[in-house]
Amino acid sequence: MINPCINLKQFFALSGLPLLEAKMLAEKVLGVNRAWLIAHDTDQLSESVQQALQSLVERRLAGEPMAYILGEREFMGLLFQVNPKVLIPRPDTETLVEAAIQWVEQHQPQARVLDLGTGSGAIAVSIAHYCPKAQVSAIDISPDALEVAERNAISIGAKVNFIQSHWFEVFHQQVEYLSKPTFDLIVSNPPYIEKQDQHLSQGDLRFEPDIALTDFADGLTCYREIIAQAPEFLNPNGVLMVEHGWNQADSIRHLLEENGFSEIVSLKDLSGVERVHIGVYRK
Ligand code: GLN
Repeated sequence: MINPCINLKQFFALSGLPLLEAKMLAEKVLGVNRAWLIAHDTDQLSESVQQALQSLVERRLAGEPMAYILGEREFMGLLFQVNPKVLIPRPDTETLVEAAIQWVEQHQPQARVLDLGTGSGAIAVSIAHYCPKAQVSAIDISPDALEVAERNAISIGAKVNFIQSHWFEVFHQQVEYLSKPTFDLIVSNPPYIEKQDQHLSQGDLRFEPDIALTDFADGLTCYREIIAQAPEFLNPNGVLMVEHGWNQADSIRHLLEENGFSEIVSLKDLSGVERVHIGVYRK
């Protein structure tokens, strides 16, 4: 792509990437916004800028997700830092977060909320940002993910209590004289892709952490654990909200019923597919 006298216009035409992606890479390398690019599209690019652009273009052409190359992704109107240790926040997950925010606003602005498997912190940090009176905690098994999530909480200015644990395990270990923590709302978007699913070796998913995507089994392992244990950590009339795969709605409904949840409702994602299930635990 590169020749000695290239300018932005030529770079956009020659990069081999969709125009929008080429512009986003140029914004990152030059540290400028879209308006600047338009005003300077015939300026000659220095050799070091051309080299920096070229290396990002090569990563993108090799299939690396834009979010990892840029190091960030917008979610719920907030900018989250991401790296390959965390899943890239998906627009579909906004369905879960919007439902959680609405529940907190309508039922209990000071709710104690727990996010299980927080990853980049997208869910927990968004809830804490939009529901500033809520007391939000977030668990992840991965210290690397928690580091990203903590950075996001700081940069977005949200207060979240981060805990390293495999689901509820850390609470089970708590010494007897400390009372077990309980929550009004528990949310989770756990790894739910089946081990056999060919999507794991396609597109963006190839670059994302396996442990955030799959349970290495039938896709339901995490729900069995989370849904069975959640009642112990929910306050009376507490609510559980989980995101799940496109073909898991019936299984999730059954698991919620089997474990004593009632008033079960499902929400559809942006493509009209059942994607989130909500259940109330009436003690
Ligand atoms: N929604 C992701 C996908 O299908 C999967 C995330 C998850 O397993 N929780 O790409």
